Amino acid sequence: MTFIFFSDLDETLLDRGTYDWGRALPGLNLLKKKGIPLILMTSKTLEETVEFLEEMEVEDAFSVENGGAAFIPRSRAPEAGDDIAVKTGSYVRKVLGTPLSEILAFYRDFLEKHDPPFRAMTDMTLDEVVETTGLPAAMARKALARSYDLPFWAGPGSEDHLRRLAGQASRKGLSVVSGGRFHHLKGAADKGTAFDAIRPHYPCDGDGGPVRTVGLGDSENDASFLAKADLPVIIRRLDGTWDPRLAAALPKALRTETAGPAGWAEAVFSVLSPRR
Ligand SMILES: [Mg+2]
Repeated sequence: MTFIFFSDLDETLLDRGTYDWGRALPGLNLLKKKGIPLILMTSKTLEETVEFLEEMEVEDAFSVENGGAAFIPRSRAPEAGDDIAVKTGSYVRKVLGTPLSEILAFYRDFLEKHDPPFRAMTDMTLDEVVETTGLPAAMARKALARSYDLPFWAGPGSEDHLRRLAGQASRKGLSVVSGGRFHHLKGAADKGTAFDAIRPHYPCDGDGGPVRTVGLGDSENDASFLAKADLPVIIRRLDGTWDPRLAAALPKALRTETAGPAGWAEAVFSVLSPRR
């Protein structure tokens, strides 16, 4: 039996406060030792994600900006495509999302009409992004290089505004989803769309046995790909909870006892343990 792991980054493989993934390392090493692909499914940008791929020495497919685009290693995509070379190798890019210019036009119109207590990441100064995210300035700059997904901060008491935004967005073919730190306004594509774009490029190989997909995530924006995985896993949050919207969407998902990257490693060992 072979596995493919699909994983969120923020608050799943990365620590909420520090973005460190040291506590996930035993799990990451186990995947590498067994030759199991690790496919990152993140709301981060291409530029940010490449940094983590390089640090983690992972060269598998990945998707960015909540399913806005999927990147397949060139070696796994023999057909012609939109080739792109990054530090970790050559990939074929599949654009799945809606251009940010369209998303911003809708967002600005909504802001003008309803004056909600929202603040889009692209309206923040670099210092504000650093303060809001805790990212170092160099990474914050990469987080601003967006193409398909608009993260925005919503102030206290924004529930009615968020509901209204989601209703109007869906009539325009857009959608709103919550990550850990930000809400995201984006096109119809989601991490589930990216899962479907990537999965066929990882056919059964190795021992020829059946392949089972494992999905790991912590927030509502992970529900779309966790729902497609054979084994969905909900990573516990630092406050001791499991995201209630994710837990409601996936009542049968495995839940980790430990939070963040430690929970990620716990999930890898629990899935790959010979006791299962
Ligand atoms: Mg997350």
